[in-house]
Amino acid sequence: MIQTQGYAAKDASSRLEPFTFEREEPAADEVQIEVLYCGICHSDIHQVKNEWGNSVYPCVPGHEVVGRVTRVGERVTRHAVGDLVGVGCMIDSCRHCAPCRLGEQNYCEGPNSWLATYNGPMVPKAKAPDKKNRYGRDNTFGGYADSLVVKEDFVLKVPASLKPEVAAPILCAGVTTWSPLRHWKVQPGQHVGVIGFGGLGDMAVKLARALGAQVTVFTRTEDKLQDAQRLGAQGVLEGDEAALKQLERSLDFMLSTVPEKHDLNPFIPLLKRNGALVVVGALEPMASVNNQEVAFHRRSVAGSLIGSIEETQEVLDFCAEHDIGPDVQLVRIQDVNEAFDSVERGEARFRYVIDMASLKGEAAAAP
Ligand SMILES: [Zn+2]
Ligand SMILES: [Zn+2]
Repeated sequence: MIQTQGYAAKDASSRLEPFTFEREEPAADEVQIEVLYCGICHSDIHQVKNEWGNSVYPCVPGHEVVGRVTRVGERVTRHAVGDLVGVGCMIDSCRHCAPCRLGEQNYCEGPNSWLATYNGPMVPKAKAPDKKNRYGRDNTFGGYADSLVVKEDFVLKVPASLKPEVAAPILCAGVTTWSPLRHWKVQPGQHVGVIGFGGLGDMAVKLARALGAQVTVFTRTEDKLQDAQRLGAQGVLEGDEAALKQLERSLDFMLSTVPEKHDLNPFIPLLKRNGALVVVGALEPMASVNNQEVAFHRRSVAGSLIGSIEETQEVLDFCAEHDIGPDVQLVRIQDVNEAFDSVERGEARFRYVIDMASLKGEAAAAP
């Protein structure tokens, strides 16, 4: 067993605090990683507070992990000790269902779906058809910790030209916006709308711009209009009806990155005929959509969930090649609760990343 130091929430109302636990030694096809950085994703906050109703406690969040390989199982061929690597939202999948066979592990239709980096299988045994859990673990502990053990084929290579702390948020925020941009085949010269301008929105703008699209950002925060401009995008306040009116039928594709339920109806008329509005930020029932606006112009309203392992590698490489990445601000693990509060208040510009060196300092200082 590997003695592991991390931060966990004991229940839905508790804050994160130091937590010691054991990880299994790496199996033949697994690698052990020393965590260097871990991004703070809004879903970490949702899950710590059980806002999606599926949290398992104690909850050690963290699925934007960058670290160094410290040990490899005997059958590992993809990674070597010393490699800089990343781990996103998934650490395993059923490997047999139709999506898995196509490399779309994020849509795994196995009885327990994919195994999340924290919080256990996406379909826990209580909800599985046969009440079994094929992964053996009802809970998994994520990257707010000093080490991680993961199957080698769910571990990504971090390109040398990316700073490790910048690479971390690409593993969730990056691939979550990249996957739909690719699936809906956003082309150079197209007009892309990004609704919500936080960690996901920041990545969506940069990726769409690097794909050659013209980008308009919709935000409720006035001082973010300048941030949009700085990234070469046009900024529009969501409540600016005249500006929305002017944009009617002008957008090829829109991505909603707002991390909670919101009204899509003001945005649907902005899509061109055949355009799609894809929701990636919210995982809950949404307000109903006026299908007249959808049907009359053969528009689509759709959703998308993170991205595959292949797409995650693709977006890491794309960011390295185009020299783009999230705007990050490093925080100490001891300040993680304050960082959560700040994310909830919409203050992050744009991603907090935990510097795990702060956790080592704490372990060293412990009696
Ligand atoms: Zn995330
Ligand atoms: Zn599967």
